[in-house]
Amino acid sequence: MNTCAYGFPRLGKNREYKKAIESFWKGELSEAQAQQALDQIQESMLASYDHRVDLFPVGEITSYDNMFDTAITLGLYRPENLKEYFEYCRGKDALEMTKWFNTNYHYLVPDFSRLSKPKFSVHWNKPKEYQKKFKKGIPFLIGPFTFLKLSKGLPKNKFLNYLADLGEVYQDLLKDLKDVHLEEPAFVMELNPEEIKGIKKVYEGIAKSKSRIHLITYYGAVDFLKDLYDLPVKSIGLDFVNGKENADYIKKNGFPKDKTLIAGVVDGRNVWKNNIKNSVELLQQLSAKTKDLIVSNGAPLYHLPITLQGQELDQKLLQRLAFAEEKLEEIKTIAQAFETKKIPAQPAINGLWTSPEVEKRLKELTKKDFEKRVSLEERKKIHQKLLNLPLFPTTTIGSFPQTEEVRKHRADFRAGRISEQQYKTFVKQAIIQLVKLQEQLGLDVLVHGEFERTDMVEFFAEKLEGITTTKNGWIISYGTRAYRPPIIYGDIFRPTPMTIEEITYAQSLTKKPVKGMLTGPVTIIAWSFVREDIPIRDVAFQLALSLQDEIRDYEKAGIKIVQIDEPALRERAPIKRRDWREYFDWAIKAFRLTTNTDPKTQIHTHMCYSEFGEIVKEIDQMDFDVISIETTRSRGDIIESFEKVDFKRQIGLGVWDIHSPAVPSVDDMKKIVSRALKVIPQENFWINPDCGLKTRNWDETNKSLKNLVTLSNQLRKKS
Ligand code: GLN
Ligand code: ZN
Repeated sequence: MNTCAYGFPRLGKNREYKKAIESFWKGELSEAQAQQALDQIQESMLASYDHRVDLFPVGEITSYDNMFDTAITLGLYRPENLKEYFEYCRGKDALEMTKWFNTNYHYLVPDFSRLSKPKFSVHWNKPKEYQKKFKKGIPFLIGPFTFLKLSKGLPKNKFLNYLADLGEVYQDLLKDLKDVHLEEPAFVMELNPEEIKGIKKVYEGIAKSKSRIHLITYYGAVDFLKDLYDLPVKSIGLDFVNGKENADYIKKNGFPKDKTLIAGVVDGRNVWKNNIKNSVELLQQLSAKTKDLIVSNGAPLYHLPITLQGQELDQKLLQRLAFAEEKLEEIKTIAQAFETKKIPAQPAINGLWTSPEVEKRLKELTKKDFEKRVSLEERKKIHQKLLNLPLFPTTTIGSFPQTEEVRKHRADFRAGRISEQQYKTFVKQAIIQLVKLQEQLGLDVLVHGEFERTDMVEFFAEKLEGITTTKNGWIISYGTRAYRPPIIYGDIFRPTPMTIEEITYAQSLTKKPVKGMLTGPVTIIAWSFVREDIPIRDVAFQLALSLQDEIRDYEKAGIKIVQIDEPALRERAPIKRRDWREYFDWAIKAFRLTTNTDPKTQIHTHMCYSEFGEIVKEIDQMDFDVISIETTRSRGDIIESFEKVDFKRQIGLGVWDIHSPAVPSVDDMKKIVSRALKVIPQENFWINPDCGLKTRNWDETNKSLKNLVTLSNQLRKKS
């Protein structure tokens, strides 16, 4: 049995990718040197594949992002050199970035509305260039449908025309290539009949190139397999990990005799070892229906760290994990086991790291645990009495500038260069200064600044039992930005308070209310690798109970406001709308369980950088008191959506786009507010930035917040 793999991480074992590109940005590497470093990385990716599998792509390496590279290939953008290339990625008028399907990878969104005369032509034959340069692997490219579906700003009703045009360009592009590896993850979306017709047409066009097309889909099942079977392609790659329906369909309806099935049975999105026995069984069932069967991963491997080698993790846990290189080994092992019919012994996955107390608590949950005892209106009155906040209250989202100094102290503490006492004293000093600053500025609800936190998920993962963090498990979230997702491996509980010390310290310095700051259960799940031996709903509820314990401790310590951040709520939603109901059911319940505490506590939530318009109803069901929400991306849409839903909760629409270094003037912010006030009653309106300030500097922060408070004062005078 042949083996295939794709999507190997480009980061490099020692993050060589990040180092090379960032050195180029700093002027330490020339363009030629940077290119050479990238070629070396491509070479080592190919070597990782070549040692273990038969078929793999070449050209997956990119200087920033492959959607953008595809746009250049098709002639939509024409940077003349690497410097210009990066202007599009991170310059002043950079392309927008958004989440790639329901993953935490961000791609650059080609925007047709900003192109003067969009016309496709082969501008850069990247597939051919890479094949020539490396002489192995199948040239890689994103398929025409996925490319267009994920672009934005297409003229109305032009999608199908554009798609048809792409047929010719791809044909041209592929005409001298014997084989091509075309990825079409958008095929797993819920598509309409017109789109499916368009797909048939464009692939008929491409097929004229005579190149053998290996068409790869992933992240779920394809709803239109019957039509997919008819496409003039050589192989079809299907995801059997996240697309169980793919297997059901083939078992029932067979698979075309003239095509190869590339069966994705190894999970590219989670870190657990494959169950070889189950995989071999599935392959046996599939092979009864197919003439030619290849085994592969079920989603690109770049969602995983590169290798377990050198990771300092608990031995028992290590035995259960597989990162990208180990996944390649698994593909090989599965093929061998399929042929020899000898299944290697594997450790049992279940029953480790369980806590009877946690399980008992979960079992005892009843309907009441998910319902507030006091209605929204009643709560509002109680809070008004307790907090006595003015009209248009001002606040921030939590973090303040994480300066070089803050990061250095944290690094010194972690490396043992300063003691815990010294580190804590430093954080306390920072809190003192920040509380003073917020009082001087005249903000109404204060925060402690989150100086002690690295990353909003990693911080809690380090404090909770049942979750581990890694020292070296980096994956790319966009460009050269990498993060280390924690691993949720066992029952979760909170051994000791996690944030009480800092929050209560801040509160002790001021009469104004200080918000307690927590990361919500859905976001912790979305940005971690999650165990699969219990339902995800149970993982969410375990997290919720741990966070609830923390809120109860706040309440005992006199904290009156708590904010639970859920920026990943929209992104974690399944790709197919028909799966949304089940997802939102547990996601909403997890939030309600987290916040099922004293009704006197005012509950805030914060969300950002997603299209929220379509989920306002679900957001409303979370039953919080106040939401702060980012609006720079979809300002118009979101205000309209709130109009439709009769939203009675308090809301702070971000008036300062914190991803830009620009300081917004009072007038800039006023414009956003005037528009929103047509829809949202003024007594429900808060004034705040659109996200945390950790990436901004102090100068921008001071000036912008000063304007923000001025705006609020002006609004109060007028009303
Ligand atoms: N409280 C967090 C902060 O201010 C929220 C971050 C986020 O929304 N991503 O940094
Ligand atoms: Zn945010």
